[in-house]
Amino acid sequence: MAAPNFRAPKGTRDIFPPESTRLRALIDEFAVVAARSGFGEVISPIFEDLGVFRRLGESTDVVTKEMFDFFDKGTPPQRLALRPELTASICRAYAEHRPVPPWKVWYEGPQFRYEQPQAGRYRQFTQVGVEVLGTDDPQADVDVIVLAAGFFESLGLRQVELALNSLGSSGHQGSRVAYEQALRSYLVAHANDLSAQSQVTLERNPLRVLDSKRSQDREVIAGAPVMVDYLDAESAAHFSAVRAGLEAVGVAYEISPRLVRGLDYYTRTTFEFAAPGLTGAQNAVGGGGRFDGLVEALGGPATAGIGFALGVDRILLACDAEGVFDTPFCGVDVFVVDVTGGTEALKVCTDLRQAGIAADRGYGGRSMKAQMKLANRSGADFAVIIGEDELRSGEVTLRHLGDGTQQRVARAALVNQLGKKRAL
Ligand code: AMP
Repeated sequence: MAAPNFRAPKGTRDIFPPESTRLRALIDEFAVVAARSGFGEVISPIFEDLGVFRRLGESTDVVTKEMFDFFDKGTPPQRLALRPELTASICRAYAEHRPVPPWKVWYEGPQFRYEQPQAGRYRQFTQVGVEVLGTDDPQADVDVIVLAAGFFESLGLRQVELALNSLGSSGHQGSRVAYEQALRSYLVAHANDLSAQSQVTLERNPLRVLDSKRSQDREVIAGAPVMVDYLDAESAAHFSAVRAGLEAVGVAYEISPRLVRGLDYYTRTTFEFAAPGLTGAQNAVGGGGRFDGLVEALGGPATAGIGFALGVDRILLACDAEGVFDTPFCGVDVFVVDVTGGTEALKVCTDLRQAGIAADRGYGGRSMKAQMKLANRSGADFAVIIGEDELRSGEVTLRHLGDGTQQRVARAALVNQLGKKRAL
């Protein structure tokens, strides 16, 4: 029987070096930027009880259609799901452990959504993000938005645009209720002009209709009432304070009155970052907002929260489009060529690596020519060449692969000498 022809599952990718090195470097940069603003990393499980994600809202596509869920082998079996995003997990962790607020955390890792894959949209993708739990101070909103903007800047991105909106407050007295009524009446009156999908969405949650990117819906959405005209006094004051904060530190934004974002839990501040270099619906490189009710919905105390998630895969595409954040060097410093067939290459490599010098070698006792080819391909600056002659005299030949110059060096002095050259 022929061996099966396995492929990575639809919507997933194998990421090889050097692209994997670039992705790691981007996450490392985010870690630096987040730590500089006082955020600590949280590492939470990749799967959770399905109920945790259900709290994201029953009219959210991510919950209703896109969940990778399964039963474990327990009795009775527990229904689990791969995380589609991390805010719910972070709020579950907060409700469970009750850390001292304000709790400022950052995260990175893979997320899973059963979506129709296309360029920049995958079923497994990587996000980085932050959350601040336990304060409703609008300056916390400003701080996280400024952090994201600063991160894009540190990558060299210059064209990322920030769209800002307020969704008002939910609850009985909240401005959301009055707005939703106005929006529903408007959309019902124009339902015949909406796409079939949006007509269904309208039944469940009129706000979600604003999120439609379908061209058929565009005209109706353009004429819809906007949330900012319905804000209650507190939400309006909060929104003004966020805007004033952004202006105080010179972060440019556009008010985008129809920005509702894909997840149901947002209240007050919502924002999105778009990279115009990316095409159409896939140009959102990140977004976030306030989720003041989510910890409580997950069994914790009433807790305000603000945060964002950025799509790493798409940010890298945006970097390609702007020609910034090049792939970092991911080769070795030194390549050891040994034609003596003994253990000398093994020993030299071990010594170099212990001294912090990245070193590699060939395997299988291949010819000098074949090993030199590997050395040139490795990206190393230097080859250390060991022949019978060198072995006898306790030396090695150190060859600069760029200009071809070479010299004999005492084996005992090699690590020291390479260390010095590397420091130059
Ligand atoms: P969200 O969690 O939906 O607010 O998404 C935040 C960011 O994650 C988006 O702006 C995208 O950059 C990225 N993202 C969301 N879904 C996907 C996906 N299926 N594939 C790649 N990136 C995604």
